[in-house]
Amino acid sequence: MEKIKNYINGKLVEPSSGQYIDNFEPAQAKKYAETPRSNEKDLEVAVSAAKAAFPSWSKLTAEKRASYLRKISNLITDKLDEIAKAETIDTGKPIQLSSSIDIPRSATNFSFFADAITQFASESHTTSSGVLNYTLRQPLGVVGCISPWNLPLYLLTWKIAPALAAGNCVIAKPSEVTPMTAFLLSKICMEADLPPGVLNIVHGLGSEIGDALCKHKDVKAVSFTGSTVTGSAIAKVAAPTFRKLSLELGGKNPNIIFADCDLEKAVSTTLRSSFSNQGQICLCGSRILIEESIYEKFKTEFVKRTKNLKMGDPLDKSTDIGSLVSEPHFKKVMSYIQLAKEEGGKVLTGGNSTKGWFIEPTIIEGLKNDCKTNQEEIFGPVVTLIPFKSDKQAIELANQSRYGLASSIWTSNLKRAHQVAAEIQSGIVWINTWMQRDLRTPFGGVKDSGVGREGGWEALRFFTEPKNVCVNYE
Ligand code: NAD
Repeated sequence: MEKIKNYINGKLVEPSSGQYIDNFEPAQAKKYAETPRSNEKDLEVAVSAAKAAFPSWSKLTAEKRASYLRKISNLITDKLDEIAKAETIDTGKPIQLSSSIDIPRSATNFSFFADAITQFASESHTTSSGVLNYTLRQPLGVVGCISPWNLPLYLLTWKIAPALAAGNCVIAKPSEVTPMTAFLLSKICMEADLPPGVLNIVHGLGSEIGDALCKHKDVKAVSFTGSTVTGSAIAKVAAPTFRKLSLELGGKNPNIIFADCDLEKAVSTTLRSSFSNQGQICLCGSRILIEESIYEKFKTEFVKRTKNLKMGDPLDKSTDIGSLVSEPHFKKVMSYIQLAKEEGGKVLTGGNSTKGWFIEPTIIEGLKNDCKTNQEEIFGPVVTLIPFKSDKQAIELANQSRYGLASSIWTSNLKRAHQVAAEIQSGIVWINTWMQRDLRTPFGGVKDSGVGREGGWEALRFFTEPKNVCVNYE
């Protein structure tokens, strides 16, 4: 049975406790590897290594740091098939997704920030004759990057790459549910000759090593992606020491389908935005708001196509729907389907599970927007259909949520599209599309979906401290 190792100070090492956590292959519902259960001792070694590496790493030219990032990116691309297979076994997601989205994007995260750091610039202000203010943006030091299980390598590298590019040294904490590709990344960093201590990957439980990382006195910033509950816990422990925080949290995203939309495009994209990665993408739309006059037409077509999705072996290239990531998550999603029925919802398709932790793509109607099913994040292959009568009502329903991560609007009326986009309380709005990402744009949510933004300059600004230098040269 494979034993995953921590990556500390440039080496693969066992956890100091000698203890391991079971790691499962969800499609088989069986243990297949073990993950280090690291503790504060491991963290201490990692932080010391990162602190020791910081002076020389931060002083390298941007071009030199970029060259390491490009090497890592190229190695990920060279090993795409191997890493995609590992990601699929570890998460249960279809191989078509890991090989076309997760792993290519992980490589791009490194190459994108390699390019970005060589173009990064800062402001200067001519205050008056003889007085110039300029802003120095300096790396923070040692930073923590904590990521969830749904897009394991993709989201971990989305944090690591800008942090390293900006000159920081990193302690990364991948999800204990899906640690395998972070382990493969450790090996790639060794192959790329990344200087020891620049990146350290420490595995273990969130409540143990994750919590310790957020509290460590020498960790200057924490970039976290995960649930709103954990984000709130991190904010509490981090607040007294004033470290920088970026929190990318949960969502309950609305798709607003107006009667004047391109129905074919709206249905086929909504199919993807509902069930890609078994609905376990923070950007998936889970509340589908449909204008009353096309409700039945949309519903009939959407249900028909959902029934055609192929659920099964995630390693089979033709599979659309794989397994959920873990038994606890599987049970949580099944309990929401039960709750939806108790709240009066009618299951139009799906609702059943099969061996392993598979759940059929599920569509439910007949529920009010303010019920628990429509207010709490399910994070699985479960969506609800809700009719609306007017633009005003659509906006009200969309905004009636504690979350505000993403939304999508389907209409051929340009004026309406822009007006609704401006009214919607979410960090991202897609008009007649979904998940078309440009890595230069600000990424993040409002309300309980988080604080701070990732992506492009936003990420490089987060991972640097702006220092105002005022010069009087008269
Ligand atoms: P989670 O909050 O349970 O765990 C995320 C990470 O935090 C894991 O690495 C975990 O070990 C760690 N952790 C847990 N407790 C901790 C603590 N007390 N201190 C420090 N670290 C701790 O989330 P999850 O179940 O892995 O992921 C699913 C959630 O992530 C969903 O809510 C989803 O919406 C959210 N998500 C958000 C985005 C976004 O960009 N907004 C993207 C993907 C996923």
